[in-house]
Amino acid sequence: MSSAPAPHNPKPLETLFSRTRSARVFKRSDLAQLFYAFFLILLGLGVMASGRLDKLEYGLLDLFFQHRPATPAYPSLAIIEIGEDSLQAIGRWPWPAEYHAEMIRILSAWGADAIVFDDLMDKEPGDGSDPLEQALRDSGRVYFPVRLETRPAKKIWVHSLPVDLEPGGDKKIWSKPRPEHALYLRGLGYLQEFPGKDGVFRTVPVSVAWSSERYFHLGIQIAADKLKGSPDADAARILPSGMQQLMINWAGRKTAFKRYAYADIVRSYQGIQRGLRPTVDPADFKGSICLIGLTDGDSVRRTVTPADSRMPRLEVLAQVTNTVLTRRFLRPLSIRQNAFFYFLLGLTAAILFLDFHNLRSPLTALALLAGGLVFWCGMLAFAGIWFYAVQPVLMVVGLFIFSALYAYLAATREQSRLFDLATRDGLTGLYVIRYFREVLNQVVEESLADKQPLSLILTDIDNFKSINDTYGHSAGDLILKKSAHIVQSVIRLKRPAKEMDLVARYGGEEFIVMLRGAPLEQAAARAAERIRVAIEKARFEWEGKLISVTVSVGVSALRADEKLPDFMVRRADEALYEAKRTGKNRVCQSS
Ligand code: GH3
Ligand code: MG
Ligand code: MG
Repeated sequence: MSSAPAPHNPKPLETLFSRTRSARVFKRSDLAQLFYAFFLILLGLGVMASGRLDKLEYGLLDLFFQHRPATPAYPSLAIIEIGEDSLQAIGRWPWPAEYHAEMIRILSAWGADAIVFDDLMDKEPGDGSDPLEQALRDSGRVYFPVRLETRPAKKIWVHSLPVDLEPGGDKKIWSKPRPEHALYLRGLGYLQEFPGKDGVFRTVPVSVAWSSERYFHLGIQIAADKLKGSPDADAARILPSGMQQLMINWAGRKTAFKRYAYADIVRSYQGIQRGLRPTVDPADFKGSICLIGLTDGDSVRRTVTPADSRMPRLEVLAQVTNTVLTRRFLRPLSIRQNAFFYFLLGLTAAILFLDFHNLRSPLTALALLAGGLVFWCGMLAFAGIWFYAVQPVLMVVGLFIFSALYAYLAATREQSRLFDLATRDGLTGLYVIRYFREVLNQVVEESLADKQPLSLILTDIDNFKSINDTYGHSAGDLILKKSAHIVQSVIRLKRPAKEMDLVARYGGEEFIVMLRGAPLEQAAARAAERIRVAIEKARFEWEGKLISVTVSVGVSALRADEKLPDFMVRRADEALYEAKRTGKNRVCQSS
């Protein structure tokens, strides 16, 4: 028996085959990655449609409004605030009607074009003489708001059960100015806030209708009168067609609406009467639209508008009026349009992230995000088009993380596949002898250092040539595969790496086994004998015929004075030869 492995080598074809397969597998993994990404995008679409993350979108929109650069305010829009200072100077609210009549007279005298109150100022019962009616008639340019109020149904409790006194439940009624006042008003409009789910004012209905009466938002009505058009579906319409909800285009904190304190106006007027220099220039009010409103005091939540105002009602009125007057309407994309762009972006990102082998991918992701946000701001600021941004960003980040993980896993898998390809024999799946030798060299060193025994088993199938000759090469291959499997199944594989046995295909039909921690006698008597018996007892069948297969086994062990494994291999080979010579199907050992 020579120590050189048999020259027979079935590998080239096998290797070629697995390489073509590996090329195809790579492309399939690309498709799989796209498929999973597609799934993630659909998941995101579902979340988007559910509206669960709308809060984030609105949060970003509010941030934009708070930090946008100043946008042009309509020049003749003036805000007159009844703030804490005015209340201290003039007196506690409510003020008598005479005060409001006085303000109407002042602003009319200064040439204001429209005088708008954000609340009904006539709630005090009149005492016969009505100064407000007189002022309204003289001015003819005053706007009052109306509100649609809900009055809870009148109930009486009968034995702890509520009984409606007025059938029909809660009643809605318009809260309107008195008829004698309404007669002299320039116009009416509803002024009422409809907060979003998070309590923040962002949109107002264009009009509110109830019981045959319909009012436009006060700000829209004022703007339409000023622009001499109609907010309605007429030819000279002011609003974009089909608009039902007006999204308030908050002009930004820095935007200089002209703001005045109510008390300053009164002081200036009286100062002028006395020949003093006024703090407020009456010329400012010529042709202006004056919006007059009351503070909500310190206790009010300041977050009800993105503008963070203490006079949310007046602020909303001013911003709506300004949005319409400057014609800077916001057009939110519909959920379908948002979904469409979300999908396109997701697909683009998924394809861009397919290749994760260098720095390009993170840079692509960053560029995509930065470009997207700039685009978002630009569209909002210059075209007034608002679309979802936070969810697409989250999706791109999600896809990025997913692709990185996927690439990492794929690389790991590919690595272990390549390792197997390089170290495993194609036919039997056992390690190739090259790899076995590498490990053996190392294990010999370790065993010598740890003074641990180390044994080798070499097996060779008996009369294999004649099996090949009798049943054909394919039968031989099958027997090789099966015996490799049997050898593997009877040795110790499921152990800590330090004690694990290792099998390799030594040559044509020869296997070599390394037994760590096993002295010669134990290796020979137990492991080698186990292999021999297992093969002898196994049923090898080919085309219905039973083939009897046996192996001869040589066993050797490492000697303490050897530094190289070669002698141990040589001794195993000699022992194997001895087994063959003395009748085959047996185990011989060489000390
Ligand atoms: P012995 O009992 O003395 O071992 O006789 P043998 O016929 O088994 O002699 P030897 O071990 O020298 O023969 C090995 C034969 O195994 C040579 C070759 O035809 C065959 N062989 C080697 N590799 C393969 C293989 O991958 N598939 C098949 N079917 N046969 C192989
Ligand atoms: Mg042989
Ligand atoms: Mg043989």
